This record gives sequence, C-alpha cells and structure tokens, in this order.
Amino acid sequence: MRIVIAGAGIGGLTTALSLHAAGFTEVTVHERADALRPLGVGLNLLPHAVRELTELGLGDRIAGLGVAPGTLAYYNRHGQPIWSEPRGLEAGYKWPQLSVHRGRLQMELLAAVRERLGDVVHTGHRLLTVQPPQAAFATADGDVTVAADLVIGADGIGSALRAQWYPGEGAPIWNGLTLWRGTARAPGFLDGRTMIMAGDAVQKFVAYPIGDGEINFIAERRAPGFAGEGADWNRAVDPVPVIELFKNWRFPWLDVPGLLAAAGEILEYPMVDRDPVGRWTHGPATLLGDAAHPMYPNGSNGASQAILDARTLAFHLAGKPLGEALAAYENDRRPATTALVLSNRRQGPEQVMVLAHERAPDGFAHIHDVLTPDELTEIATGYKKAAGFHPDALNNRPSLSAR
Ligand SMILES: Cc1cc2nc3c(=O)[nH]c(=O)nc-3n(C[C@H](O)[C@H](O)[C@H](O)COP(=O)(O)OP(=O)(O)OC[C@H]3O[C@@H](n4cnc5c(N)ncnc54)[C@H](O)[C@@H]3O)c2cc1C
Repeated sequence: MRIVIAGAGIGGLTTALSLHAAGFTEVTVHERADALRPLGVGLNLLPHAVRELTELGLGDRIAGLGVAPGTLAYYNRHGQPIWSEPRGLEAGYKWPQLSVHRGRLQMELLAAVRERLGDVVHTGHRLLTVQPPQAAFATADGDVTVAADLVIGADGIGSALRAQWYPGEGAPIWNGLTLWRGTARAPGFLDGRTMIMAGDAVQKFVAYPIGDGEINFIAERRAPGFAGEGADWNRAVDPVPVIELFKNWRFPWLDVPGLLAAAGEILEYPMVDRDPVGRWTHGPATLLGDAAHPMYPNGSNGASQAILDARTLAFHLAGKPLGEALAAYENDRRPATTALVLSNRRQGPEQVMVLAHERAPDGFAHIHDVLTPDELTEIATGYKKAAGFHPDALNNRPSLSAR
C-alpha cells in the first residue's frame, strides 16, 4: 500500500516510524518547509507518549534529549504553593514524562526515519489537495501529483487537508490569551526536576528544565491583540513589555523577570484551537495530530496525542482492511481527543490556580484555608482520567505494537 503523509512534524514523522514498524514499506513524507530545522521551544512528552516511542525502539534516544520531571507544582501569582503532584515514574507510571526541546525531538525522529525508511522525507512539498488516488503538492518546480492508496494529513493546525473538507472553518479560534514562549540558560530552581505553573486565569507563568542547562518558559496574559490568524509558531517579539508584565513575580525560589530577561528570544503565539469536527476520514484519507484535533497547550498534550494517533493508526492498518482500519482509528482516537480539546478549554488541571485566585486574590496563609484537600485531589485526578493517562490505565493497556 502506497501511504503518503503530509507534514513532517512530530505527528507525521512518528506515523512514518509506526507504519514502518508495522510492516509497511511504501511510505513517504511530504513537508511544506524547504528544510527541516530544529524549531520551537520546549514541550512535554507524557508517559503515554514515551511508552509509544519506547516501543518504537527510541526510548534511550529520546531520554537523552531532555529532563524527566518528577514533580508538577502549582503556585499562585505571589509564589505561594497550591498543589503539587508526582509525575512520570514517581507517579507510578512504567514510563517517564520527558521535557524536551521540540526541535531536538523532531530532528531525532527525522534521523530515525532516515535510518529506518531511507530517503523518504521530501521537503519543499506543500499539500494542495487530495483527490484519491492522488495527492497534489506545490513545489519550487511547479505542482506535482503523487499516487497514494492512503493519504494522512499530519499538516498541523493550518492543515490543507482539513480545509479541503471543512472549507468554511476559517482561522483557528482565539481565547483572548497571548503566550510568550522561550528558553533561557539559567540556574536550576527547586530540585532541578520540577515543572512549575504560577498564576491564575489572567496571567500565568510556566517553567521547566529541558536539559543542557536550559529552562523552558511560557508566560501568558489575557490581552487584546490577535484574532487567531497570526498563529505563527516562530514570531519573535520585543521582550521588554513581557518582562514589565511580570516585574513583580520575584519568588524566593524563582526570579521570573530575571528568567525572561535571560532568554535568547521570546516567541509570541495566540492561545488558539479549533472546534472538534465530526469526521476525520473521507475515503482513503484521514487527519492526524494537530490537523485532526488542535488543542490548547495547557495539559501538555499536543505532541503526546499526535504520537498516540500515529501508533493507533498503524496498529489498525496492520490488522484490518483499509476502510475498517480507518474507522477503527477514528473510533479510538476522535472521541478521546475531542474530550481533551474541550477539557483544555475548561483549564484542565490548572483549575486549582483559577479557584485559588478567585477565593484569595491577595494570597493565603495556607492553601487548605482556600481549597479543601478533596477539591484539590478531585481536580487533579479528573483530568488524568479524561486524558487517558491515569497510571493504571496506561500501565495495563495492551501494546499498540502491531508485530
Ligand atoms: C515550527 C513549529 C514550532 C512549534 N513549537 C512548539 C513549541 O515550542 N511547544 C509546543 O508545545 N508546541 C509547538 N508546536 C506544536 C507542536 O509541535 C504540535 O502541537 C504537536 O507536536 C503535534 O504535532 P503535529 O505533527 O500534528 O503538528 P506540527 O508540529 O504543527 O507539524 C505539522 C507539520 O506539517 C507541515 N505542514 C503544514 N502545512 C503543510 C502542507 N500544506 N503540506 C505539507 N506540510 C505541511 C508543517 O511545516 C509542520 O512541519 C510547534 C509547531 C511548529 C510547526
């Protein structure tokens, strides 16, 4: 079966590796960019995604790329602790969580694709349309068509394949929050393996180490500006106004304005997603990753869900006729990711910060004066169940390896 993947992001490359592992030999990846460069800043691979990469034989390679956080801790905007919980192995998963640089992860996946599948990634190919059994791409030398028995649209939040099927969808939907992302060479904080989130629904700061002495951060503020159209992952902006917004956020355990000032560059991005769609598959073509279910990054699930999609799709394709396999893939993945998109809109586990701020905007003596231990636990475990990454569920689920 000739399988054409549009997009060489985390989703597209993992799909190529998963299909190869499942026995498919005619797989090509077509990427819009003229060259793949290690773009982006940090992201988190949750244990369910690390399991899939490990079962693809990449465990050691990706472990070497980043840091395995042992704790996730929430604070208010005054730096007072609200809630903390173990992550990864410390939380009872058989696989760690990994905080990595997106670009380094993408380059490692690309290297693995080249080693295992050969020269199958074609850059400078922008998907235009899919008319089975062909996909059309724009290249520097003009438009080309590629024969395909199956086309997988892994072409991100601005997916051309999705736009072909949902022409009225328009720009991604912006929720009014602006994100400023970056990395800085800075001293470690707390125990050196903690991911922190501080703030509330109006203004927030997230930081975690990603290895090589680098701290990744995401500063966030409800502010007018975008309308979603400018959802460009690489838009660098003047850091001064961002530092000014956080100038009072000097905690005993982290100097937020100092970290922002130490960043090489600050990238601005609107917090956007799209409404879930009722169908990913049309004939022998389907969507995967952000093309299928773009979601807010709170919850750290974008890359992890793309990896799960990839492995699930390959698993079904290996064992069923094409139509049945695509239906089984969509059946497994669409309801689960729809629930996540919607849950992320309700702030997911970060609800503890929102409630703490609503009830005590000027801070508190002890968090239990503001939120009961039961409320805290319920919010944290509820999201894990919805996201399908409760330790028991993940540890006991059969493998998605097709052979
Ligand atoms: C440049 C960039 C930087 C990012 N930085 C971060 C980050 O720092 N932190 C974070 O949490 N998330 C980041 N993301 C998003 C994150 O990678 C995704 O949410 C997640 O990994 C799911 O991956 P995906 O493969 O579905 O989508 P993406 O990672 O968006 O990959 C989609 C790929 O498809 C390509 N493409 C787009 N349109 C076409 C087309 N018409 N034809 C062919 N190819 C096409 C894109 O160039 C890209 O390589 C970034 C995405 C990009 C593209």
